[in-house]
Amino acid sequence: MTSDNSSKLPEFKFSLAGQKARELPMGWAKQATVMDFPVSKNIAGVLMYLKPQGLRELHWHANAAEWGYVISGNVRTTIINPEGQYETNEFREGDIWYFPRGHGHSIEGLGPDGTTFMLVFDNGAFSEFATFSITDWLAQTPREIVSKNLNADAADIKGLPDKEVYIVEIKDKLVNKKLNSSPLTHKYSLLSQNPLRNCDGGKLWLASSKVFPISSTMSGGILLLEPEALRELHWHPNADEWLYVISGKIRLTVFASSGLSSVNELSENDIGYTPMGYGHSIENTGDEECKLLIVFNSGVYEEISLSSWLASNPDELIAANLNLPDEIVRKFSQKETFIISGKK
Ligand code: MN
Ligand code: MN
Repeated sequence: MTSDNSSKLPEFKFSLAGQKARELPMGWAKQATVMDFPVSKNIAGVLMYLKPQGLRELHWHANAAEWGYVISGNVRTTIINPEGQYETNEFREGDIWYFPRGHGHSIEGLGPDGTTFMLVFDNGAFSEFATFSITDWLAQTPREIVSKNLNADAADIKGLPDKEVYIVEIKDKLVNKKLNSSPLTHKYSLLSQNPLRNCDGGKLWLASSKVFPISSTMSGGILLLEPEALRELHWHPNADEWLYVISGKIRLTVFASSGLSSVNELSENDIGYTPMGYGHSIENTGDEECKLLIVFNSGVYEEISLSSWLASNPDELIAANLNLPDEIVRKFSQKETFIISGKK
């Protein structure tokens, strides 16, 4: 029996649908930071839409790396690293990018329909006073210095914005410069790969630094679960888990030790959060397959599942520990199940 003790715990669920968007003519953004969702101290998310030729302007994040997943449409990014190396990439649905903390980047929506993507940051407070935009910077710098730095007459730079523009329109076709390219790519085509786990009842595609080396502080991917399927009880020894429901309905259980736990019902557009080391499970409670974006604040993916833990201990130990007959324990799975199919 679980008692109703969740009031002693923070909320592990946040509805992005209830969040007000920052709306601009060429796109919008909705964010969930630690200010909105207090448990999410180490990971924050921004859902963004850009029309074709809408540009999320040149900027960097002083306190977080950025991990992006394309939900729909096409998008192009540019990035520079401290060695002066550049990369520009085009992405489509199912592709990921990773921008190390502090590296300067931009994101442009492409045709035909614009693009929706989720940005995930390995710091819950990535936004407040830590996102540095080029227009804000130049607007805040004495004009004589800007003029000297750009080697341009004051009269010629009159058009510089007097505050951050955030998203602007690109009017002309881009002509790429000759690039001194970065040795590690910032792009990984997640859904073009074979799934890491392919179980009866679901699949997991995962990009960790093992397959996407630049992504040294974050990993993540897509988890599909069929109706009634259960991603079994497990925990991650080294990372918090942030999840976003792209489609479907799920039940997320979170065990916080000390007799404390919480059961959370999530649907499309909801975010769930499980702190590092907390036990948890995810069950598809809807009639359709559910599609979840899951992201961790470590480049190394680690997990321990209940089934493999039980299977790796003597049956008699488990029987005594759980107060169950030996013959029942012998029927438990003898290896990790990972996903339990809902089909009988
Ligand atoms: Mn960014
Ligand atoms: Mn997990």
